[in-house]
Amino acid sequence: MIIGICGAGTMGRGIAIASLTAGHGVVIFDISDEALTAARNNVIEQLRKAVEKGKLDAAACAIAEQNIVTGSSIDVMSTADIVIEAIAERLDIKHALFTELERVCRPDAILASNTSSISIASLARCLVNPSRFAGLHFFNPAHIMKLVEVIKGPRTSADVVTTCVEFAKGLGKTPVVAADAPGFIVNRIARNYYNESQRIVMEGAASISQVDTLMKGIGFKMGPFELMDLIGVDVNLDVTKSQWEQFFHEPRFTPSLLQQQYVDAGLHGKKTSGGFFSY
Ligand code: NAD
Repeated sequence: MIIGICGAGTMGRGIAIASLTAGHGVVIFDISDEALTAARNNVIEQLRKAVEKGKLDAAACAIAEQNIVTGSSIDVMSTADIVIEAIAERLDIKHALFTELERVCRPDAILASNTSSISIASLARCLVNPSRFAGLHFFNPAHIMKLVEVIKGPRTSADVVTTCVEFAKGLGKTPVVAADAPGFIVNRIARNYYNESQRIVMEGAASISQVDTLMKGIGFKMGPFELMDLIGVDVNLDVTKSQWEQFFHEPRFTPSLLQQQYVDAGLHGKKTSGGFFSY
């Protein structure tokens, strides 16, 4: 299959690696030429590292490298069988993209969003044919993490859900069909991991590094602050804001002023070489 990926950032790259490794062709669209070049280089670097580690054979890597097409015109999506959107976590920006995608994509192409929190129902409402729309929520790093939430909106067809589940299985993932609730399953639970940790720091009860050390000490692979740095402090804050709004400003999901300050300062985590920690 040809997998169309809109957004050449953190998630777009990981989804591209997972798709290429499974033998699919990949077409990546981004409004930034710089992001496209960086994504192509990063994807090729990761594929070659996989060969060095013995996780991918050299011939498959060579084919995968030939199978990447990038473009800054949305028209590159016209060949895709499944389009996965991984752009900014904002409903208006995603709506503008999906309206364009419906114009350029084949009528039988599946349109999917990697949104972390925005309801599939509201994303699909800009489409003439919302039955071909679903959530395909990968986790970061998308080429490594096994879980994929497949989200069925109220108007998503059963066939589209089945194809998304089979596609995820073909990538070696573990798909879970989730209901269309804000934050779906994982992000709803995870919001508390990030928000409560930040409240603790703002109250002076513990430092950022103490919180992370303690959480790792009890078995979490990453502390909440290290994890926000990996996700992108900005992306993570947008997800919190989106989920809070969808829950009618439910206090337990209130975004953190601490996180807003880091975002305002341009400290967006690993991708900017600095966030809660320095890299
Ligand atoms: P990112 O900021 O790393 O990358 C976003 C990319 O989208 C950028 O390259 C940007 O140039 C591009 N872009 C922005 N507007 C665009 C448009 N209109 N058309 C085409 N390209 C556009 O973001 P990310 O972390 O990859 O997150 C992308 C999506 O995936 C968000 O919806 C986010 O909530 C979701 N998500 C993120 C994570 C994570 O850990 N970062 C995990 C799961 C889901």
